[in-house]
Parts: sequence; structure tokens; C-alpha cells
Amino acid sequence: MSREKIVAGNWKMNNDSNQTRSLIGDLIKFNQVDATVMIAPAHTNLSIAQDLLSKSKIEVIAQNMHFSDSGAYTGEVSAQMLKSIGINTVIIGHSERRKYFKETDSELKLKVDMGLSSSMKVIFCIGEEIEDRRNNKHFEVIFNQINNSLFHLKDESWRKIVLAYEPVWAIGTGETASLVQIQEMHSMIRKNIADRYSMELANSISILYGGSVKPENSQDIFSLDDVDGGLIGGASLSANDFNKIISSI
Ligand code: PEP
Repeated sequence: MSREKIVAGNWKMNNDSNQTRSLIGDLIKFNQVDATVMIAPAHTNLSIAQDLLSKSKIEVIAQNMHFSDSGAYTGEVSAQMLKSIGINTVIIGHSERRKYFKETDSELKLKVDMGLSSSMKVIFCIGEEIEDRRNNKHFEVIFNQINNSLFHLKDESWRKIVLAYEPVWAIGTGETASLVQIQEMHSMIRKNIADRYSMELANSISILYGGSVKPENSQDIFSLDDVDGGLIGGASLSANDFNKIISSI
């Protein structure tokens, strides 16, 4: 079964409005490839990015949102607000949200539900800490993250879910997981989904890898059997590097 190939750039808290215009201006000079390409600018720059990319196939997505539809949540942004400016995909559960903003599996489950009930696609991030790996708990940690936030979903809801396996120790550190580590985790994730649902469903889910992906390693990572693309942080801030990564899929 052919799965959707995706390369998504997570800009995090980088790029003001001028830098957003400039980076997008550079990105659209490159030829498009036969894969889904997404960028996630800061909330303040989503509309600017949407306007600049209105004739491009690059999709603008959000880095986060709240689990409620509206209300007294100062500083937060709802799914409906994102949808109203044409954003149809959101990243949920990034390890930086889990770590710095103390987002829990149960809170993330609510965010997933809100995203799906708002007809949004959800890129759901999972990843273990280095201690988990040292203690040989990495498979268990990843299973629990998926189980606690996603295994309540019905089969049909999974059509809107993309998973991103991002070992926390490889994010922004320059240290990439080895090809063996990546492939074994991705195939374990697929097996967990097959065990809980069906092989057919498991084989239809795109599982991205994230963690210090760069032009020098992207081709090898993307060629692994169970890797369907990447979630790219640092390297997505350079149009050249991001384009090289996109071209390697
Ligand atoms: C990320 O933030 O999702 C990420 C993978 O970052 P980096 O590519 O910089 O490691």
C-alpha cells in the first residue's frame, strides 16, 4: 500500500513577519516534488504564509492549539480560529510542548479529539527521553504515548492522523537516531497499530521521523521501509537545506 509521503518544517518560535516573507520567497523558487510539503510558522505569521503560498502546493500548518473550542484561556488559540484562516493541519504533542508546557497524554488526547472533530489533520508527535532508552524502556514509553492519546479513536478517525516519531535526545542536538533504531521503532509503532486495529489500517498510516534530519542524512532515513517522511526543525529554517531534504524523499 502506498502511504502519503510528507516533509513538514517546524519553524518553532523563529522568524518574525519579515523573515517569514523572506524564507517563503526563497522556498517557492524551488521545483515542487511528488510529496506533501508543509511548513509550520508561528501563529502570528500563519495568515502571511497562507497569502504568500496561495498558489503553491506547500501547506501551511499550525504548531499547536488548545483543546477547548473557546473561552477564558488567555494566550491560547482554538481549532476554529485556525480553520477560519484556512489552516487544516496541526502538530500536537511535540516534545517541547510536553516538556516546557507540561502537556500530558490526557490533555493531548483532548487536543486530538478537538482537531479531529474540527476536521483537521493531526500530526501527533511521540518520542522517548534518553533515560528511557538507556533503561530499555523506549518501546514501552512510545506504546504508552500512543495508547493514552490515540487508541480510543475509531478506525475511520485514523485517516486524519499522521505520526511523528521524534526521540527527544535527537531533537535539536545534531545527534540522529541510527537507521536501525529508527526502522525498528517505526515498525514497532506500525505493529502496535496493527495489533489494536488491523494490518490494513497500520499500513495506511504515515509515520514521519524527526530529530536532526539534515540534507546529509535525509535520503538514508527516508529510504527506510517504515519511514514516510520527516518532521524537520532546524534545517527547515534554511530554504536550501529544506529543499534538499524535500528533494531526497
Ligand atoms: C523538531 O522540532 O520537530 C525537530 C525534529 O527538530 P530538529 O530537526 O532541529 O532536531
